[in-house]
Amino acid sequence: SVKAAGKGHYNFFKPELYANIKARFAMEQALVQAIELNQFVLHYQPRVNTISGEMISMEALIRWIHPERGLISPIEFIPIAESTGLILALGDMVMEKACSQISDWKNQQLPLVPVSINVSARQFHAGDLQKKLNVCLKKYEIDATLLEVEITESAMMGEDNAIIAELAAIRSLGIKLLVDDFGTGYSSLSQLQRLEMDVLKIDRVFTSELGKSREGEIFFKAIVSMAHALNMGVVAEGVETLEQLGILRTLCCDEIQGYFISRPVTPETMSELMLQRYLMPSVAI
Ligand code: C2E
Ligand code: MG
Ligand code: MG
Ligand code: MG
Repeated sequence: SVKAAGKGHYNFFKPELYANIKARFAMEQALVQAIELNQFVLHYQPRVNTISGEMISMEALIRWIHPERGLISPIEFIPIAESTGLILALGDMVMEKACSQISDWKNQQLPLVPVSINVSARQFHAGDLQKKLNVCLKKYEIDATLLEVEITESAMMGEDNAIIAELAAIRSLGIKLLVDDFGTGYSSLSQLQRLEMDVLKIDRVFTSELGKSREGEIFFKAIVSMAHALNMGVVAEGVETLEQLGILRTLCCDEIQGYFISRPVTPETMSELMLQRYLMPSVAI
């Protein structure tokens, strides 16, 4: 409480902090309205085989089309949505849009690959995530193998029973589970294997170290060999350079994602990438 901070520590009344609270509140109200007005779209970023560049999957990434500000990054609004509970409505919307998009691509007879969606801890705690995913798959007549779920390593820390049960239920539908931003939390690999996580996505801070420091390479090498021994696949996030790709190839990292292959793109552009299927830039073939 404010009192507990002691005399002279009434931090709560610092003007800049007040401005911050006001800004968050304004953002929260704007978000509520944006959900009502359906001002969100999903962009899609391919995930490809490290050697061949074949698209293995794609990640759905939310963007807010703000009438005055244009495209707003999820980094700006997801944390606020999480702390206010609005993430539940947003999460439902993402699920719905992703399934509807898969269904559209299916009707256009495009060669489909799975779509991964990012799911927050709060959505796992709500207790109805598996049910909602199943309802959505049925509604759009989509096979469960066309959907994947990403949960950040930090969201699944602490052996939380609610999350463990929900993960198992989701996996039993046939939906693959990916650990997002791996390396930034401190879960053990054996714990992740027990939870039957299918793929580790190594956070891009580690990818950005490749070629700069020996430690980056050592970290990747250790993770890849342990993950493979435990039957998990490994993805490097945020691959931007040919040099990083070269190192990841020697380290036997299974898949990559990053600007070197493609930025997140609109559904229309993604249709073209699906037809292309192999996305490795010619300099790296
Ligand atoms: P994430 O799930 O780890 O997604 C990867 C982020 O890295 C994306 O940012 C992507 O655009 C960016 N990225 C991909 N390749 C590169 C690269 O080569 N270089 C660099 N510098 N960045 C790269 P984005 O789209 O801004 O999303 C940020 C985060 O917001 C996501 O991190 C995810 O945690 C969250 N997010 C996005 N969409 C959703 C959603 O639908 N639901 C939830 N709960 N979170 C979401
Ligand atoms: Mg992700
Ligand atoms: Mg990530
Ligand atoms: Mg991230």
